[in-house]
Amino acid sequence: MLLTKERKEIMRFGKKLIDSRLTTGTGGNLSIFNRKEGLIAVSPSGVDYLEMKLEDIVLIDMNGQIIEGNQKPSSESDFHTMLYQKRGDINAITHTHSVYATTIACLNWEIPAVHYLVAFAGNKVPLVPYATFGTMELAENICNTIKDYNAALLANHGLIAVGVDLASTFYIAEEIELVAQIYYQTRCIGNPVILSDKEMEKVIDKFKTYGQKK
Ligand code: 13P
Ligand code: ZN
Repeated sequence: MLLTKERKEIMRFGKKLIDSRLTTGTGGNLSIFNRKEGLIAVSPSGVDYLEMKLEDIVLIDMNGQIIEGNQKPSSESDFHTMLYQKRGDINAITHTHSVYATTIACLNWEIPAVHYLVAFAGNKVPLVPYATFGTMELAENICNTIKDYNAALLANHGLIAVGVDLASTFYIAEEIELVAQIYYQTRCIGNPVILSDKEMEKVIDKFKTYGQKK
């Protein structure tokens, strides 16, 4: 069996998505791109995260061809492969239907810099125009919108987070969900104060050395 390490990571973070209430049922999907092998490990379509087995994870190539696996790959495999082609700096993608991010996405709003933690995505979280789930059109809309951002809202659908590894995409999705909830709550009772692009540049710069990063 190829890419066992990646398969285990997808199972682990799939369970974490459910535990953290970032998605429900079989919503959302996860993938890891092993650039050395040229293979993508992707969650299977419509399979319960809590019941997912190692052999359920599907390996596809950059053209979406199944290389290993008996299950159908995620219906969103096109946007996963297209994003790996577009962004040489990313090796993992998490897609969720988390409630607050999706609430803002259903208003077809972006999330502005209401809190400095929006820096997990960039100076804001951009909005990808609506297209039916699982279509090439959605994949194209995502690739046209995401630029250098690490997260984006999908109109009337959910959230995607991209990053160097699956753990970082999970934490981006978790922090952006928090910011989405804060944005929702501030809009409910008043007008939030939005941080300037200049301030966000400072925050994004400080994030490069935040924590144990040297
Ligand atoms: P899959 O189960 O096919 O990955 O679809 C879930 C989803 O979120 C579609 O956007
Ligand atoms: Zn979805």
